[in-house]
Amino acid sequence: DPVLARAEALITTVPDFPAPGVEFRDISPLLADGPALAAVTEALVAPFAGTFDVVAGLEARGFLLAGYVAARTGVGMLPIRKAGKLPRPAASVSYDLEYGSATIEAPDVLRPGDRVLVLDDVLATGGTLAATRTLLGHLGAEVVGAAVVLELEALGGRDVCGDVHSVFRG
Ligand code: IMP
Repeated sequence: DPVLARAEALITTVPDFPAPGVEFRDISPLLADGPALAAVTEALVAPFAGTFDVVAGLEARGFLLAGYVAARTGVGMLPIRKAGKLPRPAASVSYDLEYGSATIEAPDVLRPGDRVLVLDDVLATGGTLAATRTLLGHLGAEVVGAAVVLELEALGGRDVCGDVHSVFRG
């Protein structure tokens, strides 16, 4: 697909961000390109068509993807937030990062039987997605799958977080 190929080429590698030695993959140019964004969000959820009622988006770029998919498909959207942002967090999970730790939280807004698809921009070590699965488990949610725009395969994230669909691998 030429549009997907162009979308992949729009992902920009930024050296030494957010720390020296780290190569940050920036999807901002892809988000800014309408046809590329449409093709990528389509490919992101295509394997899961008809299997989910809610998309869970990870703060912050996952929100953009989830909002787009929700608007296009008519499903609901569940924000997975960084700690301290939700007035009434129903579940909270802390996990280790390379330096320090992070905590994510979710509101108690799912309905019984809601099937949830988790969306994020980049899969790196897999810690964030693994924590998200744990978090959704605490909510009693049925998780049908997870999908990311870009999987950094060399970091072995899927060994940590389980099966994930990736549009691009690098
Ligand atoms: P992980 O927990 O190491 O898999 O990191 C994934 C989380 O960090 C996701 O929420 C990503 O948005 C973010 N992240 C990690 N590396 C990158 C990157 O190179 N570009 C953009 N986001 C990244």
